[in-house]
Amino acid sequence: MGLMKKLAAKRLRNPDEHMTVLKLKHMGRTMTCDKRCYCAEGDKCQCLCGGANHGKGEDAAVENSVKRGNEILDAVRSELNRQTELEL
Ligand SMILES: [Zn+2]
Repeated sequence: MGLMKKLAAKRLRNPDEHMTVLKLKHMGRTMTCDKRCYCAEGDKCQCLCGGANHGKGEDAAVENSVKRGNEILDAVRSELNRQTELEL
């Protein structure tokens, strides 16, 4: 099943859930992009998506994450690895 279908099915099951549209695990920490981000009203984004879904609303966030999710996560991953190397 494709990611878009999975997200759509999940939304049907839990319409009120703070649906997570992006998720990444790094060094035992789980980072997510969910309703707190895509339904935010301020313009500060501190989540995983780096602003890509921020304040865009759920439909746009789901669509964006399906289309660009891997790209966004790859960018975050390489940035995290760079920071981790600096810390070591
Ligand atoms: Zn986000």
